[in-house]
Amino acid sequence: MNRPKYLVLLAFLLIQFSATKSQTPNVVVVTLDGVRWQEVFNGAEYSLLTDEKYSHDTGLMRQQYWHEEASERRKKLMPFLWNVVSKKGQLLGNRKLGNKVTVANLYKISYPGYNEMFSGKPDWLFIPNLAVRNPRNNVFQYLNNLESYKGKVAAFCSWQLFPFILNEKNDAVQVNAGYEALAGTDSTSVLINEVQEQVKERTNTRHDMLTYECAKNYMKLHHPKVLYIGLGEADQYAHEGRYDIYLQKLHQADLMLEELWYNIQTDPFYKDNTSIVITTDHGRGNKPGNWYTHGFWIKGSGETWMAAMGPGIEPKGESKDKQQVHLKQLAATISSVLGVHFGQNLSIAAPIEGLFNDGIEDLQPPKPIVPEMSLIGLK
Ligand SMILES: [Zn+2]
Repeated sequence: MNRPKYLVLLAFLLIQFSATKSQTPNVVVVTLDGVRWQEVFNGAEYSLLTDEKYSHDTGLMRQQYWHEEASERRKKLMPFLWNVVSKKGQLLGNRKLGNKVTVANLYKISYPGYNEMFSGKPDWLFIPNLAVRNPRNNVFQYLNNLESYKGKVAAFCSWQLFPFILNEKNDAVQVNAGYEALAGTDSTSVLINEVQEQVKERTNTRHDMLTYECAKNYMKLHHPKVLYIGLGEADQYAHEGRYDIYLQKLHQADLMLEELWYNIQTDPFYKDNTSIVITTDHGRGNKPGNWYTHGFWIKGSGETWMAAMGPGIEPKGESKDKQQVHLKQLAATISSVLGVHFGQNLSIAAPIEGLFNDGIEDLQPPKPIVPEMSLIGLK
């Protein structure tokens, strides 16, 4: 091949490559509101599965979700987590093995939980679950202000308060939440908007399936490099005392994750360059009589879990390390997945240790200027 032809071909290949493959890493964060570690690691709980007060058809629920062995039971409930993430990623929070993930905020409800995980620090001031604008900066805003991620950060959430929690107006992180119409004019967005308009019985939480379809379509069309999907129906049905629907919603969320990961790995833009981080904002009561609720007074509400999988993440599976991780470490962990420091000059929590192949020494944020407040009584 003579030289000019070779150069033309090279230029062509470079253009092709840059049009398809993403140059810097991507991350997808998914939260399943109020999902207990007990179900994630042990599968369905027998006493709740067989109580007609909580599970209206106990026979059917047993057929679908029960097995004597916890290792099989959890696979029935969350097959993607236990068939794929457990082999190629990490799962943290099985307290039976001494591996703990705990919220650092006192309140153990949603707004303080999301604030903690995305700002990297618990707020000692009580923020109720109301439409109040969050004064704190979060990791998504931070990433959206970096050259490599500018305009490439998007969030789709079921709970309608997320535009307030994530400070949508301030830094132009696009947040679509509740039954807010999609801005897109493509046929799928138009169809989703039509379906949304038809939903008559609305709560403050959009159907997770709609949220997921919005995110899936946006990914396909716009290729965001940082995507957040906030699902919320499991928490909603738990509050109604419906263990049967809580399990079904959890199972559905697992199927969405499965499809999401498949789409990531079959799209040249995302393939082998995208990590997924999955977690929850709070736990729930740890007794058969209080599993459905959560908050400051309910024991177990601070106990959570986390899963992650992707190029830089050590495939350790279910972590058996005696370790205490806090929800507040998530913000720095998300940015570390991308190889970026979040929290420079801020007193935010460090990324989770033991999660990354090459350690996190290079990614540790500099020493905080303001020392972290002590976490009395929150072990
Ligand atoms: Zn709740």
